[in-house]
Amino acid sequence: MDFASYAIDLVAVLLLALGMKGLAKVRTARSANGLAALAMGLAVVGLLLQLQPGPTAWLWIAAGTAAGGIAGLITAQRVPMTAMPETVALFNGCGGMASLLVALGVALFQNEQADLVARISIVISVFVGAITFSGSIVAMAKLQGWLDTPDWTQSSLRHGLNISLAVACLAAGLALPADPAGWPLWGLVLASTLLGIGVTLPIGGADMPVVISLLNSYSGVAAAAAGFVVGSQLLIVAGAMVGAAGLILTQVMCTAMNRSLVSVLFGGALGAKAGGSVGGGGDEAGYTRIVSCSPEECAMALESAERVVFVPGYGLAVAQAQHALRELAKLLEANGAEVTYAIHPVAGRMPGHMNVLLAEADVPYEQLVEMDTINPEFPRTDVVIVLGANDVVNPDAKTDPSSPLYGMPVLEVDQARQVFVVKRSLGAGYAGIANALFELPQTAMVFGDAKAVLQQLCTELRSQGVGTKTPVAA
Ligand code: NDP
Repeated sequence: MDFASYAIDLVAVLLLALGMKGLAKVRTARSANGLAALAMGLAVVGLLLQLQPGPTAWLWIAAGTAAGGIAGLITAQRVPMTAMPETVALFNGCGGMASLLVALGVALFQNEQADLVARISIVISVFVGAITFSGSIVAMAKLQGWLDTPDWTQSSLRHGLNISLAVACLAAGLALPADPAGWPLWGLVLASTLLGIGVTLPIGGADMPVVISLLNSYSGVAAAAAGFVVGSQLLIVAGAMVGAAGLILTQVMCTAMNRSLVSVLFGGALGAKAGGSVGGGGDEAGYTRIVSCSPEECAMALESAERVVFVPGYGLAVAQAQHALRELAKLLEANGAEVTYAIHPVAGRMPGHMNVLLAEADVPYEQLVEMDTINPEFPRTDVVIVLGANDVVNPDAKTDPSSPLYGMPVLEVDQARQVFVVKRSLGAGYAGIANALFELPQTAMVFGDAKAVLQQLCTELRSQGVGTKTPVAA
């Protein structure tokens, strides 16, 4: 049986690695996800073969698998794309809690068999698992708007508190290997759980997704440590991969948002609330030179455009307008226009948000152009349509050192000949600040829900015969 369980573990590790590789490309992502799920299923089978549990344990395992599976299925089916960061936070929290419970179980009931490596791994697994769990739950609650940032967390008091908790964790962690089931275990659980809350609570909504990515990495570290505790190679490999991937993603997001990880973790709240207008300067009263136009006028400009760039943002996801956008793009292509989509690395509310959204509407992947590649193309672009994007096209990020976005790389749509910004109002984006783009002479606002405006544009273009006539050669 040992050989069979090792062989199954090995196959599971290979499938998991293949699955992770496949996730890097949109076309293979779905099947890759299936491979990774199969790997996890095989891992459970391998472990059961190795442990050969009795009938009562079987019952527990079956009940746990069914409960977890059903909860996961319902969550995955119901959650909207816009709530993905909260969902990821919740899943990270579950991962952290699972590693914590595994380590607790061994510490309490099997500590006599645990060698020094396993005992040290218990310390790491409990410490990182508890921080991941409590931190992720706080992050999820903040993103959902259930929890505000208390004022006292913005003072230096929190640093003193967190340092005390970290010292308590260290003391309990050092004492634990000698006394795995005693007070150090419970001291470590308590201090680490509080530390997770203490570190995450002060962080503002705008930085929260970076924190979630970091917690994702922690959940991997906790899982790898739990792998050492129970001697599971798969858990060690999977945990290490998640830990490394989460860390790389954290770095990518920090770069894209022009934030250092230190300033995210210790700098306090940036932006009071996730997902909305969060500060001064972005309200309608601040603007003086706004030009708005109707979808009909926008359609006229599109009709004669040869190069059109769409800039999708969070509002496109909110409006679920990706299919209407694809329809419009098809019409313009049939009219002879060259259509591309400019993708900012932090557009939307999670990395890859726009890629996933547009893939849902079968937008050809080749038409999605990354920021560094599309920016030099804007000066020779006839029409840019900004769809529910705001911060990622704010030119102040390049020119105004007093802007909170200053230094963040943005899509330079202000370089294009004509810009239409489709959004419902002059309300701010995630960073809560005004957008200088709205007042530029080449910009016109098209107010309305992104889906409704796109549908009106399609109707208008069709009524002009666009997409139904063969384009006239230039
Ligand atoms: P923003 O959050 O800057 O702006 C979104 C805009 O969409 C709003 O101004 C809103 O204006 C508009 N909107 C909302 N609903 C609709 C609708 N139904 N129809 C039309 N428009 C709508 O989005 P961006 O994508 O430009 O920027 C993303 C922001 O999120 C950045 O600040 C980024 O740093 C941050 N962020 C992103 C992360 C990621 O991983 N992607 C992670 C962390 C943060 P109105 O209300 O007037 O309609």
